[in-house]
Amino acid sequence: MTTDADTGARRPGERVVILGGGLTGISTAVHLRAPWVLFERDERLGGHARTDQREGYRFDKTGHWLHLRDPAVKQMVDELLPGQMVPIARRARIFSHGVLTRYPFQANLHGLPPEVIKECLLGVIEAKVAAASAMSPSATPGAAPSGAVASAGGAEEPGNFEEYCLRHFGAGISKHFMIPYNEKIWGVHPREITAAWCSRFVPLPNLEQVIAGAVGAGPPEMGYNQSFLYPKAGGIETFTRALQTRMAGGQAHTRANPDTVDWRRREVVVGGERIPYRALVATIPLPELLKRMPDLPVEIEAEAARLRCTTLRYLNIGARGKPRSDWHWIYVPEKRYPFYRVNVFSTAMPNMAPEGCSSICVEMADRGPVTETSIRDTTAALVAAGALGKAEDLVFADEKQIEYAYVVFDQHYYQATRTIFTFLESKGIFPRGRYGAWTYNAMEDCVLAGREVAALIDRAAA
Ligand SMILES: Cc1cc2nc3c(=O)[nH]c(=O)nc-3n(C[C@H](O)[C@H](O)[C@H](O)COP(=O)(O)OP(=O)(O)OC[C@H]3O[C@@H](n4cnc5c(N)ncnc54)[C@H](O)[C@@H]3O)c2cc1C
Repeated sequence: MTTDADTGARRPGERVVILGGGLTGISTAVHLRAPWVLFERDERLGGHARTDQREGYRFDKTGHWLHLRDPAVKQMVDELLPGQMVPIARRARIFSHGVLTRYPFQANLHGLPPEVIKECLLGVIEAKVAAASAMSPSATPGAAPSGAVASAGGAEEPGNFEEYCLRHFGAGISKHFMIPYNEKIWGVHPREITAAWCSRFVPLPNLEQVIAGAVGAGPPEMGYNQSFLYPKAGGIETFTRALQTRMAGGQAHTRANPDTVDWRRREVVVGGERIPYRALVATIPLPELLKRMPDLPVEIEAEAARLRCTTLRYLNIGARGKPRSDWHWIYVPEKRYPFYRVNVFSTAMPNMAPEGCSSICVEMADRGPVTETSIRDTTAALVAAGALGKAEDLVFADEKQIEYAYVVFDQHYYQATRTIFTFLESKGIFPRGRYGAWTYNAMEDCVLAGREVAALIDRAAA
C-alpha cells in the first residue's frame, strides 16, 4: 500500500490514533477536536484508575486518591460529578518501631523511641552544619543560621537520591525512613536513583519544623497531598467513568492490542487492519510501544534497552470488622515487614466494603510471588499496625500485579528518554502519560497531559 505520509499531505480516513485507554488516553480523546480512534488492550477503559470488586468489597488498583491543583480540572470534576466527590482530610501515618507516627516522618518524630528521635535530630543538625560549611568555607558551626533544612545545599548537587536524603535529612532520618522506605517502593537502592524526580513529592521541613515535630508540636499537615477527593460510591473508577462521558468525535475499541506501529508509513496495524494516523498519542508503556516499532535506528534500540521499571505485587484483602486505627494509609519502612504501604479504602469511604467490614490493599515490597508465609506475615503485621482487629478477621487475600509500576530514574534515564522522545516526536508520535512519557506522576497530571497533547495536535492541524 502506498502512502503520502512522508509528504505531509492528509490521507483519506486519517485520524489521530490513541494507544491506551487510561486517564491520559481518555483525556486526550475528551480534549481533541480532530477525529480520533483509541485502542485499549483491556476489556474496559481506565488503566490504573479502575476499581475491582469481590463479594461486595471494592478495591482500587492500590490507593488512588485524587489530589487536584489545576483550577480547570477541579471545575471539570465538579461539573462531571456534582456533589459526588467527597473532600477528605488525609490521615497518613508511618508504622515503624511498633508505633504509628504522623506523616511525613521527617517532620513528625514525636512518638518514636527516644533514642531514635535523638539519632534523627542529631543527624539533621549535623547535615545542616555540613551544608552550611559547604556553602561558606569560613562559616563555623556556631554561626550556622537557623534557616531551612530545605535551603541547605552544598556546592554540588547530590549525585543520587541517597546523597539527597543524607544532605537534607541527615543520617538518622535517612536510616530510619528515607533509605529503607524508598528501597522498598522503587525496588532498587536509592543510590541507583537520581534525586530529580522527588522535589514535588518529598516534603522538606525546615529545622524548626523538625524540632517542633520531635516534641509533638509539629505542623498540622505537610506535603502535596494533604487532602484528597474520593467518589461517594464506586471507588476511583467513578471518576474515570465520568470523564469517559465527555469523549466525543471518535471511537474507542477495547480488547484491541496493536500488533505493529509502522512509523515510516505512519500506520498502526491492529488485527491485520492498517490504520493511517496523522498523529499517534502513545500512552501505553514506552517499552511496549518501541517493541511494536520495527527497524528502529540502532541508537534508539540501545537507549530502549536502558529503560528500567519495577513491577508491583499487591494484595486485595477483604476483612471482617473495622480497623482499630483510623488512618487511610500507612508507610512501612522497616525491612521486617514484607510490604511498604497499606491503604484502607473503607476508612475513606465505608461503602467500599460490606457493612461493618473493611477493604484493604497491601503493596508488597518483595517483587517475587506472594507465598502463604508472606500472607501470614502480612496478616500479623496488619494486626500490629491496627488495620485488622485479629488475624481471623481476614476473609480473603487476592494477589494482583502491576507490571509497569515505578519507572526507575537511574543515571541513564534522562539521556535515554531525551533521545527516544526526540526521535518519536519527529515521526508524529507523542508519548504521554505515566508510562508513555516514562515518568512518575499522578492522575491529575495524566488528565492535564491529555489536554496538552490534544491542544498541540489541534493547533498543528489548524
Ligand atoms: C501503585 C500506584 C499508586 C498510585 N496512587 C495514586 C494516587 O493515590 N493518586 C494519583 O493521583 N495517582 C496515583 N497513581 C498514578 C496513576 O495511577 C497514574 O498517574 C495514572 O493512572 C496513569 O494513567 P495513564 O493513562 O498514563 O496510564 P495507564 O493507567 O497505565 O493507562 C495505560 C493504558 O494502556 C493500556 N495498554 C497497555 N498496553 C497496551 C497495548 N499493548 N495496547 C493497547 N493498550 C495497552 C493499559 O491497559 C491501560 O489502560 C498511582 C500509581 C501507582 C502505580
